[in-house]
Amino acid sequence: MMSLPPNLDDAAILAARGSRPALDRSRLYRCLVEPEPLVRGGIADVAAVFVTGAECPFRCLMCDLWKHTFERRGSVPSVADQVEQALQELPDLPHVKIYNAGSFFDSQAVSAADRARIAELVQGRERVIVECHPLLVDRRCAEFAAAIAPTVLEVAMGLETVDPLVLSRLNKRMSLPDFDRAARFLVDSGVELRAFVLLGPPGHFGAKSVEWATS
Ligand code: SF4
Repeated sequence: MMSLPPNLDDAAILAARGSRPALDRSRLYRCLVEPEPLVRGGIADVAAVFVTGAECPFRCLMCDLWKHTFERRGSVPSVADQVEQALQELPDLPHVKIYNAGSFFDSQAVSAADRARIAELVQGRERVIVECHPLLVDRRCAEFAAAIAPTVLEVAMGLETVDPLVLSRLNKRMSLPDFDRAARFLVDSGVELRAFVLLGPPGHFGAKSVEWATS
């Protein structure tokens, strides 16, 4: 069963939002230990750090992560300070995941200076996982990967769906060739990749949504 979601642009999505929740500037949003499947099999505990930075510049239809960010035009607390605080609170695990409710390589959300400090903070870990929109995957990813080596960098990107019709209605401003380009760039730069896939995005229902998510 399929019925395309309405074609909403940034203005329509912004108009449909409620007010921005008040966030605590004095400490990081959250950190915890959670088990994750490993690329090469098995499961490992991962130190998961959820930091608060500037809001993502994209306005995807299904995304509510803006609630955990500050407005782009204002000042934002240091993301590196938040990562440092989290790593002091968490056990010393080989795998560290840093999610900023946006893109780690968006320099307004995570500044170049913060990325350089974070590279120092994660020295000695086995793997660092960050998230990024495919259009923001560029030389900054390769530079960060080189800065943390031999720690492996893994970048998580939102593919969302391989259905081009539904993807075009998510206001993600990304096409399947855009995702492909970013994935190839990461692989060529020695960076590992994970993809976020929506089960039942707007427009997919029932068994069809499982078929699309696994195709
Ligand atoms: S790119 Fe990611 S964080 Fe930004 S709006 Fe889309 S889903 Fe949300």
